Amino acid sequence: MPEPATIKTTCCYCGVGCGIEIRRDRWGQLTLTGDPDHPANRGQLCSKGRYLLQVALDRDDRLLYPMWRPRREMPLTRTDWDTALDHVAATFRRLIDRYGPDAVGFYVSGQLLTEEYYVATKLVKGFLGTHNIDSNSRLWPATSWHWATTPRRSVTTTSNRASAF
Ligand code: SF4
Repeated sequence: MPEPATIKTTCCYCGVGCGIEIRRDRWGQLTLTGDPDHPANRGQLCSKGRYLLQVALDRDDRLLYPMWRPRREMPLTRTDWDTALDHVAATFRRLIDRYGPDAVGFYVSGQLLTEEYYVATKLVKGFLGTHNIDSNSRLWPATSWHWATTPRRSVTTTSNRASAF
């Protein structure tokens, strides 16, 4: 039987960086709440942070391997990382050689950490030579304050399935 434990960590969804607490009880049941001591959110969570535990544990629709299809009408099939990365690199090379670096753009995840954004921006601006990079971090925090001020709720999960209470 696991020992009860509490971990303080940070919501990974956006740049607000709300503090969260994840508790495990003696039966292994996990509960996620906002961290009342964290200065960014003082215990409040928006709807995305509130259900973070459910999403993190649900692997039903998660992409676990590189997938590709040679043509749009073909079904996705699994491939290996070397093949996938070679294909992506060759496609970028072809487009940039033909149309210039501003022919490509990146809309990156809002779940990257600061260091990961730094690396992504170096790649896009410094290596590929385009300013075309943005992320949903810009959009999501603009609406998060509204959600962050809604009443706090806890979300509990048993095994790999979660239910809200
Ligand atoms: S505003 Fe929402 S998504 Fe952003 S860090 Fe806080 S709980 Fe997570």
